[in-house]
Amino acid sequence: MTKMGAKRTTPRKKINPMSAEKRRELVRERELIAKLLVKQKGKCARCSKPLGWASAKHEITFRSHGGDPTDEDNCILLCLECHMKEHGINYKGG
Ligand SMILES: [Zn+2]
Ligand SMILES: [Zn+2]
Repeated sequence: MTKMGAKRTTPRKKINPMSAEKRRELVRERELIAKLLVKQKGKCARCSKPLGWASAKHEITFRSHGGDPTDEDNCILLCLECHMKEHGINYKGG
């Protein structure tokens, strides 16, 4: 019969739900959205509806196609409706 020893292991890996890099990315994203809001005067880039909380950052050239998601010239803010239209019904993000 084997007995499970009372081996005490101190977990060395701290569970970190958000890495520092991810946090920096989020801060950059927020700054970018703030910049875009000013640039677009708080309106949707397609229908000019005032953007409230329900806005989406749309990447003109998606990152998988070589676009830069942090470049303000590659991003526009759209209302959710226009964002859906932009992507069609198979919206998967971006
Ligand atoms: Zn719109
Ligand atoms: Zn998009």
